[in-house]
Amino acid sequence: MSWLDADDLPPFTVEHPDGSSPYVLTCDHASRRLPSRLGHLGLSDEALETHVAWDIGAAGVVRRLADALDAFLIMTNYSRLAIDCNRPPGSADSIVARSERTEIPGNRGVSSDEMEARANALFHPYHDRIRAELDARRDRKQPAVLLALHSFTPAYHGVERPWHAGLLYGRDSRLGRVLLELLRAEPGLNVGDNEPYAVSDRTDYAIPVHGERRGIPNAGLEIRQDLIADADRQAAWAARLAPLLEIALVKLPPH
Ligand SMILES: [Zn+2]
Repeated sequence: MSWLDADDLPPFTVEHPDGSSPYVLTCDHASRRLPSRLGHLGLSDEALETHVAWDIGAAGVVRRLADALDAFLIMTNYSRLAIDCNRPPGSADSIVARSERTEIPGNRGVSSDEMEARANALFHPYHDRIRAELDARRDRKQPAVLLALHSFTPAYHGVERPWHAGLLYGRDSRLGRVLLELLRAEPGLNVGDNEPYAVSDRTDYAIPVHGERRGIPNAGLEIRQDLIADADRQAAWAARLAPLLEIALVKLPPH
């Protein structure tokens, strides 16, 4: 018997599987859906609509970007509350019992067997698919540039965040710095340099594992969620970003 129900969606969705763009786009927190066996994890419908469950607006932007660029895109189909696909499994933040000020009753005292079951059902299939795509590109000598799309809350623990967007990068700053410069040249944008988050092996997964360890250019792009909360604004951000991402490929320094 599988952990996901017959009526549940598969763990992830791929769009443009044969995309011609060097970009491999990921969206770890695309969905607020929960697998049926987890119910609502004891949360209200209202709580499940907030950033606690997903990256508001991120999927709407990245899908349009993938269309504009003809880029491979992979998105999770389940909430980070089931298991966070951007944390190493077993780490403290992989399955959280508390997020900012929200308690998640269904994640209290999760056993190691349950952790493993969630990782096997949701986390590993998603990352195995990313790995397979990057392996296939390496084998057919198609370039790969990894870009992880996220969104962040306008305030965290009561502190306002001044940025409209942020570029995140760790050991490999090539793509992050080029995109930072391009976005900062846009009028009226306050763009964070490794803000509101910095990349680390403890708090990230796709960038260190699929980007840095493979030596392919990589970065995370964070957009403030209130700026991409509806379809019109998601389309506007995708339209703004698509040409900048194309320019970034030309400007990208060789390894
Ligand atoms: Zn995210």
